[in-house]
Amino acid sequence: MLNIKSIPAFNDNYIWLIENSDQRCAVVDPGDAAPVLAYLERHQLSLEAILITHHHNDHIGGVSELVRQFPNVDVVGPANEPIPTLTHAVDPGEQIELFDEVFLVLGLEGHTAGHIGYVGDGKLFCGDVLFSAGCGRVFEGTMEQMYTSLSKLAALPQETEVFCAHEYTASNVAFALAVEPDNAQLHKYRDEVNRLRAQNQPTLPTTIGREKWINPFLRTDQPSVMRSVANRTSQTDPLAIFTALREWKNEF
Ligand SMILES: [Zn+2]
Repeated sequence: MLNIKSIPAFNDNYIWLIENSDQRCAVVDPGDAAPVLAYLERHQLSLEAILITHHHNDHIGGVSELVRQFPNVDVVGPANEPIPTLTHAVDPGEQIELFDEVFLVLGLEGHTAGHIGYVGDGKLFCGDVLFSAGCGRVFEGTMEQMYTSLSKLAALPQETEVFCAHEYTASNVAFALAVEPDNAQLHKYRDEVNRLRAQNQPTLPTTIGREKWINPFLRTDQPSVMRSVANRTSQTDPLAIFTALREWKNEF
């Protein structure tokens, strides 16, 4: 069982640190090296691996400096993205081993063309695809790809812990409440999110089970969500509902 810690970076990024019991660790999406190096120094950890979900600079900006300090580090990332520092390029469907746990590489295209996620040990590292109460913007892929990626995540076991790369929860909840003003679970969750953020605590990880109750982007088959976008699309299939929601969120 791996232990996960959050290292805040920039305004609202989290670099997730995966800790073994013997002072070895890995980090996910280190956009900045400085906070990672400070954490490793403070806790006397050695960096064995870096996992990358996609090529955006706030996810890979710290990699070259970390490689300079830890020349033997294994840099795992998506084969289909322009990331020059990889030592271990992976494709969806492959498995990687990390501290005796096996992680499956999921293809999660949509936010970027080759975005991947890692799922294992009951944990999901999904970069900028799924956020708590929201989802990533569709930059390089299609709405259909993003919808398919989110559907894959929704099919994971309910108890899977979701380690998203950004603390966007409070603003996502505000949008989710505009979509589903009568969702009682969402009102409860807003109170919990407000309490955590007031104490400067992360709202993450979330779980797949919770997101299915509160995240409108995973609820495109719910009548309440369909009603809210009825003025934006005449279609009722889940992809049309998802597309209308994502476009609404872009301007929210
Ligand atoms: Zn991104």
